[in-house]
Amino acid sequence: MNRIILLFLFLHGCFSSERYTHGISVDFWETPNQDLGTRIVEDYCRLATGLYLDLTTEIGWTTTLCLSEVSGDYKTAVIYRDVCYAGLTFNIDDIYVAWRGTLGESAFAHELGHIFKIKLGIDPDGQHLDTTFWNAMEAASFELQLEGL
Ligand SMILES: [Zn+2]
Repeated sequence: MNRIILLFLFLHGCFSSERYTHGISVDFWETPNQDLGTRIVEDYCRLATGLYLDLTTEIGWTTTLCLSEVSGDYKTAVIYRDVCYAGLTFNIDDIYVAWRGTLGESAFAHELGHIFKIKLGIDPDGQHLDTTFWNAMEAASFELQLEGL
């Protein structure tokens, strides 16, 4: 019996899904309903811009905890160079989001918004100056919550 338990622990250590990219701890790469959630975000991008793009992409999800300076409690965060983010997009296939229980509560729609702009070949708007578009991504997050995603 002990031998079986030791074997399990060994395999778990060898095949852990946790990967590190840019020093960011990634716990998993896909959530349930991520495809359906992506279709909803695509709809909001189309509503905001009149353009449809397939935003299907692999996302590195993290559940690492970071003390929130605003609320004083711990929230999950993408921690990059000792700074905590709700999400971080480096490129079209290099995107990280803190898992906060649902797609709608996480920065899923927001980061896909950056992907939308990158795929269009325009500035990804890291400063979030396109308020109409980012408000649409906020609305997409609420829609995801309403849909129970
Ligand atoms: Zn952003």
